[in-house]
Amino acid sequence: MTYTKLNSTHLDRLGAMVAPDRISTGVSNLELHARDESHHEACLPEAVIWPEQKDEVAEIVRYANEHRIPVTGWGSGSSLEGNPIPVCGGVVLNFNLMNRILEIREEDFQADVEPGVIYQDLNDKLRHKGLFFPPDPGARATLGGMIANNASGTRTVRYGSTRHNVLRLQLVTADGEIVRIGTRSSKTSSGLDLINLFVGSEGILGLVVEATVRLVGLPAAFSAAVASLPTVEACSRAVFQIMRAGLNPAALELMSPECIDVMNRERDLGLPVSPTLFMEFHGTAEGHLADVLSMAQELCEEEGGTAFRSGLGRDERDRLFRARHELSEMIRREHPDRTHSTADVAVPISAYPDIIAWSRQALEEAGIPGYIFSHAGDGNVHLVFMGKTGDAGEWKEIGRIYDRLVDRSLASGGTATGEHGVGLGKRKYMEAEHGASLAWMRRIKDLFDPNRILNPGKLIP
Ligand SMILES: Cc1cc2nc3c(=O)[nH]c(=O)nc-3n(C[C@H](O)[C@H](O)[C@H](O)COP(=O)(O)OP(=O)(O)OC[C@H]3O[C@@H](n4cnc5c(N)ncnc54)[C@H](O)[C@@H]3O)c2cc1C
Repeated sequence: MTYTKLNSTHLDRLGAMVAPDRISTGVSNLELHARDESHHEACLPEAVIWPEQKDEVAEIVRYANEHRIPVTGWGSGSSLEGNPIPVCGGVVLNFNLMNRILEIREEDFQADVEPGVIYQDLNDKLRHKGLFFPPDPGARATLGGMIANNASGTRTVRYGSTRHNVLRLQLVTADGEIVRIGTRSSKTSSGLDLINLFVGSEGILGLVVEATVRLVGLPAAFSAAVASLPTVEACSRAVFQIMRAGLNPAALELMSPECIDVMNRERDLGLPVSPTLFMEFHGTAEGHLADVLSMAQELCEEEGGTAFRSGLGRDERDRLFRARHELSEMIRREHPDRTHSTADVAVPISAYPDIIAWSRQALEEAGIPGYIFSHAGDGNVHLVFMGKTGDAGEWKEIGRIYDRLVDRSLASGGTATGEHGVGLGKRKYMEAEHGASLAWMRRIKDLFDPNRILNPGKLIP
């Protein structure tokens, strides 16, 4: 596909669609939109535009489509697979100024938001109303970016991923039409499910300009606990037992000893440096949660658990989970001369102990600094390697390990990417994961975006 390079006429026309201070071709702005948080190579766009209204987005996209100019959406740029890198140049649409919370309907447990709203800001606003939006990917992500990547987080095990919490979208399609999909009803059996098609489509089918999201009541009671076990394999078996027992955790996170060591040093957590589970349970009554915790403790002890600290208050719970959310940044600070790369496989829960055991062995054999942390209740594993920057041999080895990890995940019925999306990094696994249905994805892309101007080069190999 050949694309048009922006010339002064294009820039004048695009500039006339927004205020002059909301379009830039300045090098520093281009550089700020050339890479996400992944190790993938940077690529400069030709212009960055900050729209404020959905009509502006529609006009820009319509013009870009007519002139075969690539358009890539940008939220916070916190993706980990190169998802928003404008590999074909063109225009980046940065949604940060479309950051209004349009309406909160407490009585329906719903909010209408623009795509540039940061999910923590939404939750700050909702806290006073006793509500929250559950998906929590950790980084300061925007709702638009979360919808595009179908982001998840520590609470997905109980409340679902972004996909499960989106009811309605307004989209700008490649030809510049504004289309509304979905309803405000919590269930529907009407027509094809375009919400499920668009959530997770990484901005290659259309751009989100408004969303209605589902909210959840803050739990009346919660309990949190930290369990130390002798091996990550024992942790993974305890996870399986907790899930099988139907304890319904609101968070169940596994961390290898290397993670605990870094977190202790950065946040003074004082935890034993051993494989560890953080868990949280939500409910209506303290008594019931006490029973749940004692059962979780029993299950951990059956797997050789060496310590189980429960009855954590809100402050301690927040301190632990904040450290968990900031773990990726801590790991990067630990290795300033290295670059991180994160595997993101997810498997059915029965295959979880096997994939954890395999990851641990791979980590030990690799001789490269590495970490395992995992949204364990979802069977989602991050094997993170910190590769020496510029060391081709080391990066080849990391790639080889990831290929084998993905093979193993797919063989158990899992996926190459549980939450980070495909972007650039996971395209090579699409054929193996989806087989003949990949051809249908190509047809759907061509149907929605025949000129392939929307986030070209992503998701579909
Ligand atoms: C430290 C750290 C921890 C993380 N932890 C998690 C985690 O636990 N779980 C998880 O799921 N992810 C995690 N991530 C990855 C990342 O935060 C998520 O993928 C997040 O959803 C990206 O949101 P963003 O606003 O940064 O989007 P961006 O990275 O800017 O964009 C993401 C994708 O969305 C597209 N896009 C942006 N806006 C729109 C729009 N309005 N319409 C259509 N497409 C659009 C972009 O083109 C791109 O394809 C983590 C990242 C970091 C750096």
